[in-house]
Amino acid sequence: MHGDAIPFGYGFWSLVVVNAGIFVLFALSFLTPLRRREWRSFGVFSAFVIALFTEMYGFPLTIYILTAILGSRYPVLNPFSHASGHLWIALLGGGVWMSVVIHLVSNGLMLAGLVLMGAGWRRIHKARGELVIDGVYAWVRHPQYAGLFLITVGMLVQWPTIITVLTWPVLLVVYHRLARREEREAEIRFGEAYTRYKATVPMFVPRMGLAARRSLRRRGRRRAESCVPGSMTRSSWGRASPALRSRASCGGEVLLLDRHEVGSHQTSACGTPLWVPQALGVGESVLQVHRHVVVHAPSRTVTFDLSDAPYCTFDYGKFSRGLLEQSRARFLRTSVIWFADSAVETTEGRFRAPCLVDCSGWQGVLVDAANEGVPPGPAKSFGLETETDYRGEALYFWANPERFREGVAWLFPTGRGSRVGLASYLGRTKLKGALQRFVGDLAASPTAYHGTYFPSGLGAATAGRIFVVGDAAGHCLPFTAEGIRPALYFGQECGRLLQRVIERAMSLDRALQEYRRRVEAYRWAYRLLALAQWAVIHMPDRWLGPLAEFAAHPRIMPRWWPRYSRFGSLRAPGLLAGTLAKGRSTA
Ligand SMILES: Cc1cc2nc3c(=O)[nH]c(=O)nc-3n(C[C@H](O)[C@H](O)[C@H](O)COP(=O)(O)OP(=O)(O)OC[C@H]3O[C@@H](n4cnc5c(N)ncnc54)[C@H](O)[C@@H]3O)c2cc1C
Repeated sequence: MHGDAIPFGYGFWSLVVVNAGIFVLFALSFLTPLRRREWRSFGVFSAFVIALFTEMYGFPLTIYILTAILGSRYPVLNPFSHASGHLWIALLGGGVWMSVVIHLVSNGLMLAGLVLMGAGWRRIHKARGELVIDGVYAWVRHPQYAGLFLITVGMLVQWPTIITVLTWPVLLVVYHRLARREEREAEIRFGEAYTRYKATVPMFVPRMGLAARRSLRRRGRRRAESCVPGSMTRSSWGRASPALRSRASCGGEVLLLDRHEVGSHQTSACGTPLWVPQALGVGESVLQVHRHVVVHAPSRTVTFDLSDAPYCTFDYGKFSRGLLEQSRARFLRTSVIWFADSAVETTEGRFRAPCLVDCSGWQGVLVDAANEGVPPGPAKSFGLETETDYRGEALYFWANPERFREGVAWLFPTGRGSRVGLASYLGRTKLKGALQRFVGDLAASPTAYHGTYFPSGLGAATAGRIFVVGDAAGHCLPFTAEGIRPALYFGQECGRLLQRVIERAMSLDRALQEYRRRVEAYRWAYRLLALAQWAVIHMPDRWLGPLAEFAAHPRIMPRWWPRYSRFGSLRAPGLLAGTLAKGRSTA
């Protein structure tokens, strides 16, 4: 049907029905029109799609008209073969290569549109009526309609017809009006928050690269009236809460900004030494205590005895909310967009503060802005994880190059089930297939997946006059991928220094310098762990088992384990609050 061989490549009405049906149903499931005006707009899209496929497989109206007008000047021998229906190729006299390019471009546009619509739908569905301003919504205000436009542009590139070319502007107008109406409703419902979002994020076409940043900065300057003063602004809550707790307890104003509610978006397996939640007064978040780590290497299985400093898995929500409750910081849910002119630009307006801490995870939003033009920081690994019903008694790791050459797999039991994941030290993100096979081998059932990048090398502790804590500063330990404890530890160190700045016992510059010094003191340890990480994926497979056995040997383990497991000692909340209360300040 795609060649010139069939003299009349039309009249395939079943193909018309199937193709139009697929697109209409797909769009229907993502747009879920409910009100009359939504159905009206959807009707225009459906008409566009039906008109397209009718001409593509059923009745070539456009070609009849064009051949009638052009007569013998029509540039193909058999205008009614399917291949000649690709009008751009026929009219521009292109051959095979042009056909390939047109198919690649048009299919790419349609696929991008479908993905965009799906991503938009997922966000809206998850938000359950709340305002959504992150993910694809941080780029455009109407990703689903933008996706619809991409699909139709793809269709016009692949198979233009007179009717679809005429219908397309109507489609744009109809959806533009629908979007405007929805925005008016959103402004009534969400008030100032939506007005600010609207002023920051474009409607359908995202701003790209430097242009986007420049425009944000320009707008930021114009909106100086929305500046909210505060002694300290954080870009996020993350897990580096001790910085906030210590700052809050000394009486100054602390503002936490995060695009998600605290504790609502778990990104990790939440395994940490038991003393961490205990020292921070959130011991009730512990789900299961682990006194052993079992490492499965290709030739043998090695058990590490942790009874000296047991580990635990904890409930992320309880842990994070427990830390927030101990602070007197104000929390504001908003997306941080950029940092310019010493102000933090967010979807809720501009914020200025004498002390700023970026704890926004691997993306390092403020760091990125402050270091504009500086090459990106250290390499990143990627982890993907799912919750399963599998139960176990230890923390399990697999270093099995036959199955997964570039990293490790783990299973962390949590009492009722377990968190099972894969980490690619090479930063590869397509891990779902491998993880599904791995979970399948355990005869366990996966549930929802979550995954993200995490750094595998120490970055800079400060960016300009901003303190950087957690993954934003590369604090996650390479090889073991333990990032929670270092984020908490350096967060607490940062908080202590900030407290001194506010008490006017130390200048901000001196505090920044001291913070850099404290973080730098650990660089050698990060290098060592990065070397171990590199070795695991590059050494001969047969060495993995013996090396693990050597490290777990009762005479060897006491030489390294206490140092590792006690790294980053954290102060008990009572002690911390007591110490800080002495220095109340109203900076
Ligand atoms: C699959 C996986 C499993 C892991 N398992 C473990 C483990 O068992 N134990 C362990 O110790 N470590 C683990 N890690 C590493 C650990 O999760 C991270 O190192 C740790 O979460 C870093 O904490 P953070 O506070 O720096 O960043 P995050 O926890 O990523 O917090 C960043 C915060 O910033 C917010 N944010 C980001 N951008 C913006 C923005 N533009 N505007 C507003 N807010 C923003 C986010 O919403 C988030 O709340 C794991 C990592 C992965 C990927």
